[in-house]
Amino acid sequence: MKNLLILGVSGSIGTQTVDVVEEHPDEFKIVACSIYHNKEYLRELLKRHDIPYVGIRSKDEELENEFPNTQFFYGEKGLCELAKLEDYDLMVNALVGINGLLPTLSGLLAGKDIALANKETLVVGGDLVMALAKKNHCHIYPIDSEHSAIFQCLNGEDKKTLKRLIITASGGAFRHLSHDELKNVTLDDALHHPTWKMGRKVTIDSATMMNKGFEVIEAHYLFDVDYDHIDVLQHAESIIHSMVEFNDRSTMAQMANPDMRIAIQYALTYPKRESNDHVQSLDLASVAALHFANLSYERYPLLALAYEVGRKGGNMGAVLNAADEVAIELFIEGKIAFIDIEKLIIHAVRNAEYIPDAGLNERFLSDQETRKYLWDKWEGLI
Ligand code: MG
Repeated sequence: MKNLLILGVSGSIGTQTVDVVEEHPDEFKIVACSIYHNKEYLRELLKRHDIPYVGIRSKDEELENEFPNTQFFYGEKGLCELAKLEDYDLMVNALVGINGLLPTLSGLLAGKDIALANKETLVVGGDLVMALAKKNHCHIYPIDSEHSAIFQCLNGEDKKTLKRLIITASGGAFRHLSHDELKNVTLDDALHHPTWKMGRKVTIDSATMMNKGFEVIEAHYLFDVDYDHIDVLQHAESIIHSMVEFNDRSTMAQMANPDMRIAIQYALTYPKRESNDHVQSLDLASVAALHFANLSYERYPLLALAYEVGRKGGNMGAVLNAADEVAIELFIEGKIAFIDIEKLIIHAVRNAEYIPDAGLNERFLSDQETRKYLWDKWEGLI
């Protein structure tokens, strides 16, 4: 029995993690979790599962009276307190945003393994996180479909024989549009991902290709591969989730229907594989054709920017991530057009002071400065 802490349990990855747990009640138990605002989901979850520790946004007497056997933790501090609990074996970090970084570090400090879906953990703090994991002999299991695919392709292989990683990208909601045609797209359009059902932020990040840029940076840290040996390939059907080429020119691909529960479950059961009856078998005859194309940096400038930021390191991941979070919020609020997202992010990165050897505090400062800068200046920048 593996005891789980699930951070961000009511989000897209969190709820699918609960699906996996409920499919395998003899394998996993949720001993702690956190939600941000979906109290109704938490209520239902607590009725089905006896969960002794729960993190919520702020004190809530109604909830606490309703579930007297549960100990509640509050706010961002509460997430780190949960991460330090002795009672769990594996943290599933399904938080969205930079708030996921400190709980990851707290979990690693406590010697825990992490199943990681929070991208910002590695985009902002990849070098620090991987060094701490190594020092404390902790494992980080990727939950993202691309990194799970690479992780699976590398199983049992000698890393010295690895030639390059090939991360696939569906191309997002606007893959059939030219850069010029992006001027008139709406929020509703951006929220229609062609192949995956995901949370709002990552769906918009997929349309701008910022998400793929983040995934390049994550892959760099997770698999210790330099940026010259990480390629991105457009693949419309999202059947091949990523590939690895070896030095004998053999390329391994992991294939499955696009369903996050496969990657989530593998991160939870590794090195074992368990049945996954709620996911459909891949029927390649009905898929019939798989399509591939190179991605243009002119069409997707944020992908090029992510490589540049990744190579620089230091505080630049924090700047890139903060700029993206603000730009997406402005877009969701209807204040800026879709095409302005990349404009604002590129501007913020070019304007930021580069601190190559930034520690954790400097990264959080860069995060705050970038947010303040964009919230103050966005109107003049578009
Ligand atoms: Mg992904």
